[in-house]
Amino acid sequence: MCIFCKIAKGEIPAKILYEDEKTLAFLDISPRSKGHTLIIPKEHYETFEELPEEVAIDLIKAIKRVIKKLKSLNPDGYNILNNNGPVAGQEVPHVHFHIIPRYKGEKEEVIKLSPPVEVDLDGVLEELKNK
Ligand code: AMP
Ligand code: ZN
Repeated sequence: MCIFCKIAKGEIPAKILYEDEKTLAFLDISPRSKGHTLIIPKEHYETFEELPEEVAIDLIKAIKRVIKKLKSLNPDGYNILNNNGPVAGQEVPHVHFHIIPRYKGEKEEVIKLSPPVEVDLDGVLEELKNK
């Protein structure tokens, strides 16, 4: 069983911030900022595209609730991050969203998108047309 399934089943401890029937939110064990939270479906799905639509909607609702809660830490902004696949930086193979509150004057570098690369936009659009 994966580590987040074990957390969802209460088999290993976590600092739980929010819970409902389908979702769970807990503090990241290696926080990138004060209040860094992970939101997961209780059922095991590996990546975002595997989520049934209803579960994806439940997760979005939970994200909104957690952001409301985190507002009491007075962040100046926040990132919502979802990595899918090892090549995209996913380490735990159970779909999760990071909510990372951001504060003005943080010392750590804020995660940003990687630098732009050369891509033939018309070619990509052609490949994707009618898919
Ligand atoms: P990702 O790289 O998107 O798969 O992120 C996985 C995240 O899970 C990392 O930020 C880890 O710090 C976090 N993490 C791993 N194990 C635990 C745990 N037992 N409790 C809380 N967070 C964890
Ligand atoms: Zn799992």
